[in-house]
Amino acid sequence: MPHAPWTEEETRIRQALCRIGALCYQRGTIVGADGNLSAKLSDGTIVITPTGAMKGFLEPEHMAKVDMQGRPIDQGPRASSEVGIHLVCYQERPDVQAIVHAHPPHAVALTIAEIDMQMPIIPEIIVTIGGIPTAPFGTPGTPELPETIRAIVRCSDTVIMKNHGSVTLGTNLMDAYKKLDMLEHTARILWLAHTARGGLSPLPEAAVQKLLATRAQLGITTRNTLENQCGM
Ligand SMILES: [Zn+2]
Repeated sequence: MPHAPWTEEETRIRQALCRIGALCYQRGTIVGADGNLSAKLSDGTIVITPTGAMKGFLEPEHMAKVDMQGRPIDQGPRASSEVGIHLVCYQERPDVQAIVHAHPPHAVALTIAEIDMQMPIIPEIIVTIGGIPTAPFGTPGTPELPETIRAIVRCSDTVIMKNHGSVTLGTNLMDAYKKLDMLEHTARILWLAHTARGGLSPLPEAAVQKLLATRAQLGITTRNTLENQCGM
């Protein structure tokens, strides 16, 4: 059945889902049929990658559309089985317009090794997102999983689910993708530092406070987990 003509907004979002999905694939933060991406239209409809799809090879017509309760609103492809992760984020954060759920290998490895990504080490991360809280393990494909991140996404735009993957929230898809890129890059640095010499030293508290104080001068008002003590 031919789809109804999309609005300019929906066309743009469907194309962005394809582009960012391919980017995650190229960067190795999504492999196989893992992960899923979504964005919210101005009427509250959620456009999300379909179940079982390889995110590096999506076309705009492959996307599923659901309402805020996850119910399908057209006869098109079915939504990802991990739609619950996205719904929890949109329910808790009306300011959020897009979500990327990926399986970034270094960040997931750190949760398995029980290395805390909240540790203040990298200046750019301290000033922007603060740190990255870890959510306890939840069984994928069950309602248990989204509930593990509900409290954390209220105070953080990034979270890593233990032994599983990341969830990054943004004002648009590129913003959510940027946070995934920052998260995995930081995890990779921590991993390399650990490999080089075991134990890690955080920046001294005074240095962290000085960095946080620069946020106001830089005009950065986004959520910061070191400032609001999220996940501590
Ligand atoms: Zn997943």
